[in-house]
Amino acid sequence: MTEKTELRGLLPEEIAQTLQEWGHPAYRGKQIFKWVQGRAVREAAEMTDLPQGLRSKIDAEQWLRPLALSRCRVSKDGTEKYLWQLADGELIETVLMPYLRSQTRDRVTVCLSTQAGCPLGCKFCATGQQGFRRNLTAGEIVSQVLDITHRKRQSDPDFKVTNLVFMGMGEPFLNYDQVRRAIELFTHPEGQNIGQRRITVSTSGIVPGIERFAQENWEINLALSLHAADDQLRSQWMPVNRQYPIEKVLDACRRYWEQGRRRLSVEYALIEGVNDRLEDARQLGKLFTRWPIHLNVIPVNPVTESGARRPDKARMVQFLDELKRQGIDAVIREERGVDIEAACGQLRGAAHGEGET
Ligand code: SF4
Repeated sequence: MTEKTELRGLLPEEIAQTLQEWGHPAYRGKQIFKWVQGRAVREAAEMTDLPQGLRSKIDAEQWLRPLALSRCRVSKDGTEKYLWQLADGELIETVLMPYLRSQTRDRVTVCLSTQAGCPLGCKFCATGQQGFRRNLTAGEIVSQVLDITHRKRQSDPDFKVTNLVFMGMGEPFLNYDQVRRAIELFTHPEGQNIGQRRITVSTSGIVPGIERFAQENWEINLALSLHAADDQLRSQWMPVNRQYPIEKVLDACRRYWEQGRRRLSVEYALIEGVNDRLEDARQLGKLFTRWPIHLNVIPVNPVTESGARRPDKARMVQFLDELKRQGIDAVIREERGVDIEAACGQLRGAAHGEGET
């Protein structure tokens, strides 16, 4: 860890180490961590119980680096999509999904990006069509939540993100170490303190990543983006399948599931004329007959380049009924933010298309 690592990417003891090198007491590491991760401050000046000299030093070192908001769109259904510009000009997206439930406290979910772009090139995905730029740092990953929190608390001081899904731009398991660190930061009791069971990491099927994830001593949920039940079709739409075919991916997922403490869900984007036949539902069901997973069937968000379109409602219901007939726990997942291009990579693509950066 070098002193150049941004403050938002550091744990209290790591902050303390740098402070000691600067001649400040170690206990201030925890104090600063609480300000940065718990209270989501964007400037050293907001850390009012720090000596002025230390605040100036943090500014001089540019140690606290909030994200620059490039655009925010709000959907009719309450979903908010943020486009951020990173220090080197790269653009990433984050989606905020408030679910208002009566009688209970609100659930606020944030869908996070882990890479700028993505190298995996899934055909139905706007990010996949834009290529890979670079991995995000842990600081940039947690900043997506911290900067939304800071913004929302201007009008609602009690605002808190309660759930996280690593399902935005990029493949989390191709940036494992930084994602791991971000999880440590998010779950830290002196920071956002988000419960492990409220976090889901989604993968396109990177087998070594799933295996490593299964070894972690935590209770974080795993979601597999499957989208096709046979290798030929899956390889066509998700090139990663050529390296990690369905059987190998499911073997790794089963080992994860056998740990018994955590939930596995499977995502299936339904694309008209591609994977929406009853035969596809039968094949899909067969993969999980003796394996109680939760299956989310998601009507694909239209991506202009691929021509992928969602089937009509009747066809989706038929597909779902066939899965249920086989005893699969499946639902059609509620669509969020369609009117604001909330699918991963769409807003970034739109911004580039309009010449916005
Ligand atoms: S769906 Fe996920 S893994 Fe596939 S290209 Fe898009 S971001 Fe990458």
